[in-house]
Amino acid sequence: MGNRMVFCPECRQNVRYSVKKSIEEAELRGEAYEIVTHTPYCERCSGEVYVAELEDRNLNGLYDAYRQKHGIIALEDIRSIPEKYNIGKRPLSLLLGWGEQTFSRYYSGDMPSKQYSEVLKQINADPAFYLSLLEENRGNLKSDKAYEKSKAATERLLGIPVEQPSKIDIAVDYLLWQCQDITPLSLQKALYYTQGFFYAFYRSFLFVEDCEAWVHGPVYREIYRRYSDYRFDPIDSIPEFDISSLSGEEKVLLDSIARHVCCYSGKTLEAFTHNETPWLSARGELPANVPSNNIIPKDAIGKYFTSVKEKYHMLTPSNIRDYTQSMFSQI
Ligand SMILES: [Zn+2]
Repeated sequence: MGNRMVFCPECRQNVRYSVKKSIEEAELRGEAYEIVTHTPYCERCSGEVYVAELEDRNLNGLYDAYRQKHGIIALEDIRSIPEKYNIGKRPLSLLLGWGEQTFSRYYSGDMPSKQYSEVLKQINADPAFYLSLLEENRGNLKSDKAYEKSKAATERLLGIPVEQPSKIDIAVDYLLWQCQDITPLSLQKALYYTQGFFYAFYRSFLFVEDCEAWVHGPVYREIYRRYSDYRFDPIDSIPEFDISSLSGEEKVLLDSIARHVCCYSGKTLEAFTHNETPWLSARGELPANVPSNNIIPKDAIGKYFTSVKEKYHMLTPSNIRDYTQSMFSQI
């Protein structure tokens, strides 16, 4: 500190100052405390000078002594909470059912009441307690994103493996993100072609889920249920998409599906699938309008799309276009 400068009113100029530490008595809320006090002196005239940052430090020392005596959470502990749980100061305040600015005030140094302090201490000490608050009071938050982010951070602290979204969910989100005007019906068909062509090109299935041979073509039941409210309308809830959740192969294939499959209407794609072996075989002798939950076996899908790839001499997933154009010309 000796090389810092400050204005000395006695010397009427900027001077170097030094700092002396001493134990001083100070008073807060009617109680006396002995605290370490830092006092700056002019190195020229030895008179006391004023340095705001030291004044703050002394005051914080006094507040710390008060906090310690009364069992109030330390300022540094308060300040560690938002980072630890990856939550903003305002969302945290709302989560706790406090005024929007309350936590921010404590963060800047205001002294919390004993009751609020106890809550903050427990949160700081116990991630499981915080997680239960986060779940219970989730509705207080203004965005799902704040909830998701904080939940992931807290689960990491607790050593809970973070739930990975399944591949089919990633594919759905990516297709919704890439395509406009995609209806539940066309989404189902796009997923089906994704599964089939992914196998044809890369010899493995992208999804573990099986689809069923419904009247209107192959359907992934869980995804159907998720978007059934849209009926024949485009799904307009566009997810935020983290592109790093796709491998290069997955992205190339889904991009081609988005371009060369999703460009057709759901009804057109339904007509395609009605001309394809996997759906036809799974339906067997069933009349066209009879509902069925028959699984379309993955190996039937794999086999069919492998033969399509060979028949159309496809070199890359962009050649999926040749197949869909040909199917379109046949209906
Ligand atoms: Zn001086």
